[in-house]
Amino acid sequence: MTLKILEHQSLQSFNSFGFDVAARYFAEAHSLQAISEALRIADSHALELLVLGEGSNLILADDLPGFVLKVALQGIEVIDETAETVTVRASAGENWHGFVQWCLGQGYFGLENLSLIPGSVGAAPVQNIGAYGVELKDCFSHLEALDRRTGEVVTLSTEACCFGYRESIFKGPEKGRYIITHVTFTLSKTSRVNTSYGAIEAEMKRLKLPATPQGVSRAVCSLRRAKLPDPVALGNAGSFFKNPVVSNAQFEDLKIRFPEIVAYPDRDGFTKLAAGWLIEQCGWKGFREGAVGVHVKQALVLVNYGGGRADQLLGLAQRICESVQRRFGVELEMEPGIYPVP
Ligand code: FAD
Ligand code: NAP
Repeated sequence: MTLKILEHQSLQSFNSFGFDVAARYFAEAHSLQAISEALRIADSHALELLVLGEGSNLILADDLPGFVLKVALQGIEVIDETAETVTVRASAGENWHGFVQWCLGQGYFGLENLSLIPGSVGAAPVQNIGAYGVELKDCFSHLEALDRRTGEVVTLSTEACCFGYRESIFKGPEKGRYIITHVTFTLSKTSRVNTSYGAIEAEMKRLKLPATPQGVSRAVCSLRRAKLPDPVALGNAGSFFKNPVVSNAQFEDLKIRFPEIVAYPDRDGFTKLAAGWLIEQCGWKGFREGAVGVHVKQALVLVNYGGGRADQLLGLAQRICESVQRRFGVELEMEPGIYPVP
């Protein structure tokens, strides 16, 4: 037996909102064999399976009647190297920020703008994590996953993962099919920095940091610590909504009515609106209702002050969406997934 199965396990410390729900069955998998065993058990008892990383991008709305499997595989290895690049394979249960810092320590560059994003390596491809002008796909080589449909381990390329803006095949058409076990990255040995995202350069100047990947990482950490609530102290899942992408025609119309609107060019013919700005304009920034609310420093982050419930948070989210729709005619889409799936 490679799997220790717990019953009625509280998930409060396994989700960054800190919602107090329980899993009917819960186990941590430290090996591929343990994952296979969990799948066999879940399938033979027709149990709904939730694959869990560090729980920083989901909303546990109620007790989970099925099987919650925390993927805890550990290990980082260099599998190939040239004069300019290195190929690094990381296990899904590694902590993302720990992995980024390990890479920087070895002199392997490319992930520094993604410093301090909470969560595991295995969940990072699920929404193609992104921040400060860089996305996971920019350094991605391939990943290995257990295919629940066949029981086989498969290798998926960038194309197969269909990465988009906070999107991938794992969130979309093949949701629930793959359990990611390892992610492999191609990183650079040459120190080249990406400070094009406005706030980084200013922060580097302010802190007198060198123009190195380590300097960028420190600037990003400093910006994030100043603006985002630490889930250990205040329950949250980062951005609650995605930045909506609208047609250039709709944007031009909005720009006439709201000249201050914050927006950035997106793919051809489309513009990305800053969801945080839209929400703030509707008066929600810092709003609190009982134990849930909107963060005082970033309107895109909904928070649980402690003792809040998911239904209260989702009710608030609904009202935010309605007010943004009424004022701007723009639909907001939630970023974290809801479990049990409604
Ligand atoms: P979980 O929340 O455990 O899982 C998320 C989803 O992935 C679930 O659907 C789960 O089933 C699935 N999943 C998890 N592990 C696996 C696996 N091994 N195989 C298959 N499916 C799996 N995100 C960004 O993109 N950019 C940011 O800058 C950012 N900042 C954040 C800041 C804060 C303060 C917080 C709380 C969150 C932030 N996030 C950000 C969101 C979150 O950190 C990322 O989405 C992260 O990748 C989630 O990792 P996790 O291990 O916690 O995933
Ligand atoms: P910010 O710097 O205040 O910027 C507000 C919004 O404008 C961001 O959503 C960002 O879009 C966009 N933006 C700013 N400068 C841009 C540029 N030069 N080019 C294109 N778009 C630009 O944002 P923030 O809240 O402090 O977050 C900083 C970064 O961390 C962002 O990249 C954000 O996505 C990321 N973050 C993500 C989460 C999450 O849970 N997903 C949580 C916290 C922070 P983008 O979001 O597309 O970058």
